[in-house]
Amino acid sequence: MESQIISVAERVQEIKPSPTLAVNAKAKALRAAGADVLNFSVGEPDFDTPEHVCQGGREAIDQRFTRYTPVPGILELREAIAKRFAEDKGWHYEPDQIQVSCGGKHGLYNMAQALFNHGDEVLIPTPYWVSYPPIVQLAGATPVSVPLSENKDFDLDPHVLESYVTDRTRGIILNSPSNPIGSIFSRTALEAVGRMALDKGWVIISDDIYDTIVYGQDTIPHILDVDDKLKEQTLILNGVSKSFAMTGWRIGYSLGPKHILAAMNKIQSQSTSNPSSVAQKAALAAVAGPQDFAEMMTEAFLPRRDFIINALISNEGITCVVPKGAFYVFPNFSAYYGRSFNDKKIGNSLEMADYLLDKALLAIVPGAAFGADDFIRFSFATSMEVITEGMKRLKDALAKLT
Ligand SMILES: *Cc1c(COP(=O)(O)O)cnc(C)c1O
Repeated sequence: MESQIISVAERVQEIKPSPTLAVNAKAKALRAAGADVLNFSVGEPDFDTPEHVCQGGREAIDQRFTRYTPVPGILELREAIAKRFAEDKGWHYEPDQIQVSCGGKHGLYNMAQALFNHGDEVLIPTPYWVSYPPIVQLAGATPVSVPLSENKDFDLDPHVLESYVTDRTRGIILNSPSNPIGSIFSRTALEAVGRMALDKGWVIISDDIYDTIVYGQDTIPHILDVDDKLKEQTLILNGVSKSFAMTGWRIGYSLGPKHILAAMNKIQSQSTSNPSSVAQKAALAAVAGPQDFAEMMTEAFLPRRDFIINALISNEGITCVVPKGAFYVFPNFSAYYGRSFNDKKIGNSLEMADYLLDKALLAIVPGAAFGADDFIRFSFATSMEVITEGMKRLKDALAKLT
């Protein structure tokens, strides 16, 4: 065994390794060995970054826009974000209320570091995005899971929420449309959250990263539309990763009260300094340019969504809430837990993921990663051919379980 003279910090030891690491490693090894693994686990659009956005990046390089930028991001980009928010949503922010970060995830990290103290409790509707609990924990606070139920379309139930509130509750993280479910919180649920937040002085983090990928409705309920006063207590997280297929460029942005943004800038100034200058220019082309790209993607995703849902629920016992946004489905596989293949019992989502990878060469993400073991996440940001073949393989693999 390798000697361990130096030890890992306690706060990192407390973070649980991702439950999907083992399955991911196995999928990778199988692929490397030449196996025809169908990948339903990706969390990014299967489209290329639009040409005009790439052009923005190319011009930045050609013009040698390659030095440090202001800590919160270039003013032009923050102004473009402010303009887009004012025009599209009617929410008014000044550039000093906006921070551009190295991806949306990093914006959330900065928020948590700027907001939370040791012992603070942060409510996280569950199933949740995998990074919420560790980001809260790394800030010294405690993530508190608030279960959402499938039979309520995964909407937030105010009574359930209330039962998780304590004297230490500091805030809540909302994600609508959500990853992994694609659910959208109802106005009623958001009104209840807003009332509690106003009453108790909570901070609300609203992760809106999927708000341009919405099926069949023009506007969705938002916490800022519930009550004007909530703007003082809300931090908005968004970015170009999903809406412009720019996951690798690493540009996200946060909007909120000035003093919190100033604190986030302090953190950013002592960690990353600023996001990539070139990527900021590409993001500027995205935010200030034509906005039809997400609509084009959404139109392409819709028939895939409908196909995969129908294929999934054609398997006896599988139920699936229809996603209203994003590009994931989150079917309930628990009817198959307890069944066996060759005397090997499948007892949970990780074992199901392992089985589907071994026997059907399907790479998926087990629900345990999102705090909901009954479920499996399939991304439909992949071709119709892959989805069709994958659903055939799934049916065969499930039929072999006794
Ligand atoms: C993808 C994603 C983000 C942001 O991702 P970045 O690549 O860091 O911009 C934020 N929240 C959710 C729920 C996501 O799925």
